[in-house]
Parts: sequence; structure tokens; C-alpha cells
Amino acid sequence: MPRTGAQRYSCHSCAGCCRDFTVQLRPDDLKRLEVQGWAQRLGQSPTVEFRGRVWLRQREDGSCIFLEPDGRCRIHAEFGLEAKPLACQLFPFVPMPGEGGVQVGLSYACPSMIRNRGAALGTHLDDLRRMLRALPEVAQPRSRLMLTDRLEASGGEERLIIGGFERIFSRSDLAVEQRLDGAAWLADMLRQAKLDKVRKERLRDLLDLLVDAFEEEIAASPPEHPTARQAKVLRQVVFAHVEDVKIGEVRGRGLGWRALRQFVTHRRFGAGRGEVPAFARDWPAGLRFEMVLGVGPARDEEDVRAIDELTLRYLHSRLADGRAWGPGYYAMPIITGLLALWVMWAATGWLARLHAGASGRTTLTMDDVEAALLRTDRAAGRAPWLGSYGERLRLAWLGASGGLRRLRRAMRLTDGHRAITGK
Ligand code: SF4
Repeated sequence: MPRTGAQRYSCHSCAGCCRDFTVQLRPDDLKRLEVQGWAQRLGQSPTVEFRGRVWLRQREDGSCIFLEPDGRCRIHAEFGLEAKPLACQLFPFVPMPGEGGVQVGLSYACPSMIRNRGAALGTHLDDLRRMLRALPEVAQPRSRLMLTDRLEASGGEERLIIGGFERIFSRSDLAVEQRLDGAAWLADMLRQAKLDKVRKERLRDLLDLLVDAFEEEIAASPPEHPTARQAKVLRQVVFAHVEDVKIGEVRGRGLGWRALRQFVTHRRFGAGRGEVPAFARDWPAGLRFEMVLGVGPARDEEDVRAIDELTLRYLHSRLADGRAWGPGYYAMPIITGLLALWVMWAATGWLARLHAGASGRTTLTMDDVEAALLRTDRAAGRAPWLGSYGERLRLAWLGASGGLRRLRRAMRLTDGHRAITGK
């Protein structure tokens, strides 16, 4: 079950998930849709088949066929919450096999989750338990968790690593920016460590040493500017997080069309010149690549507080709720997942700048960060290409070239302040 402390959530019927996600259906969902008689009432099947799986049909704009103009779900309105496909009921909860059974992550591709609005998470537990009974596959203990490509991790080692980051995040005597630089530094140190020599209790000693040392270390070696190559790879990471495949589009225009569009757009992101190409819903059009980097961190005090609070809450959730590695993130080893998380956060900073710049602002606001995180978190753990071998190579290169701290610093969302506690 998710932690129930700092996070709140209730559905505020923004319908963003019904416009944005392609819903895969389970056999029980199909039975319910059939009993509800939608094929006759809609004059067409409410489902489509694609690559051997069955999905909810979407309109041309990508929205679900059951989404009403007023933002309500037609199935929910007529038959109630439990009549909807299970994936719709579950969102934004993300169940997965955990160490001793089911673990539930939180998706931030939801404005209520980002803004921390609604009821305490504990109020959702009864609903969650009911839904999880229909998902026996996630109640299995997870298969082995890797620390690196070659070393298997124990649950104890995973908790030690999460604990190390928590200790840095909770240093309320330091500016949030220092804590984030410290956390990126810790991820980089773990990447470089010979972890085969420091297992279990020795890993605890190593983490104690690193967490005690981070403040002095980051002060002694502030991150430099990213190199041109690192900046280019970051733009490619941004592209990978925003690329959005709609089944209807692929069925209508064909895989060849999609591959060509992907190739052209990917090249333009790599080149980083000219106007940033529009290729996703509600894209902030009209800004040139060069201008994205002209946008600075948030300055307004209220925005800074909101963004810092979100940043710590989000990173904590990704680490502690199972969405940074293992079954919650492409079965990646812990160390690779840490690289992916920090690079993803830098990509969120890049996209937030795009949103700000396209609206004529020169500093970030909470709205820009929300718009960016809705895009990047939506892809995290869900877009298959982010778990590919090529993506892992890209992460490995960014880590080995010293890009982790540089990119995070260059794409920072605020310069931080001291008044936020770490959880
Ligand atoms: S079935 Fe209802 S809840 Fe699910 S995506 Fe469609 S409109 Fe949204």
C-alpha cells in the first residue's frame, strides 16, 4: 500500500487521464462492457485490437470514446465507479509486485497528485484493496531485484539506499537546491562505487560515509555547465519522454508514417536548432530551442515553495513507492534506475522551461512545472522505449561523462530555500 503520510489525492474530474491515456482492457472489463450493451448503443464496438491486445476505442483527438463533453465518464455516470475498466478505477495508483507482496506506486500524471489536493491517501485503502483482488498477478512477491547489471540486491540493501536519499532530502537546515545536488552526487557516487565489495552492512557504512560527506563534497566541487554533447543527449531524453503513440493514429496512417515522423523529430531535437517541433497534445508551440535555455529558475516566493515541496515529495515517492527501478521501472537495476530518475528530473526542468518560454516568461512558475511533470511522469515506466537497451546506454554515458549533476543543476527548477522539510 502507498505511504499515507504527506500525499493527498482525490479525483477532481479534470479528465486529463481520459484524454491522454490509452486504456488496455482485461477479460473482466470486456465482459462488463458487453453486459452494459455499448456496442449497440454506440453503433460501433467500444474497443479496438492492436498488436494482440484489446484497448478502449479513442476519438480522433485521442480522447476516450466514453468521455462526455462536460468531462464526465459515461460509464461512471450510468453504472458507477466499479463498472469502469479496472485501469480507469486504479489511476493514479500503480500496483506492482513488491518485496513481500503488492506494492502501490503513485502516478503524478495527474494534477491532483501534483498539487497534493484531496483526501488523505488512507481514505482510498478500501477501494484499493477491492481493486487489487482483481489483480492476482501483482500480489506475487517480486522476482529478483538487481543492484547493478550483475549484482542481485536484497530488500535490506534497497531500503538502505532509499534511506540514504531520505536523509539528504530531510536536511531542512540546507536549501533544497543543496539537498538535490547532494542527492545527485550520492547517485553518482553509488554509480562509481565497487558495490560487489560493499554488500549489506558494509553498504550501510558506505552510505553513512557518503551522506555525512555530501555537504562538503558538493561545496568543494560545484557542477560545471553541461557539455554540448550532454545537452544534446538531454534533449533526446526529453523527446523520449514526450513521444506519444496513439493507437488510432498508427492504425490510420501506418507504422511507416510513425517511424518517419519519429526519425525527423528526433533529429531536430538532437540538432537543437530552429523551432521546437510540436508533436504532442497541448504542445507549447512557437519557441526556438535556443530560447528554452534563456528561462531561469522560479523567483516568486510562492512558486519556489510550491515547486520545492513538490520536488521533494515527488522524488521521495518515486524512490520509496517502487517506481524508480525493478518491476515499477522496466526491471532496471537500482543504480540504473537512479540515473534514469535524475535525468528524467532534468528533462522535466527542460520541458518546464519550454512551457514558460512559450508563454513569454523568463522564469519558471509552478504551472510550468506541473505541465512538464504531467508529460514526463506519464511516460515514466510506461513508454517501452524508456526501458530499452539504447536508453540504458544513454544513461550509462551520461553518468560516466559526469552529466548527472551538471544537467540537474542546469535544469534546476528553483535556487531553493530552507523552509521546507524533506517529506
Ligand atoms: S472509460 Fe471513463 S474513466 Fe476510463 S478513460 Fe474512458 S472516460 Fe475515462
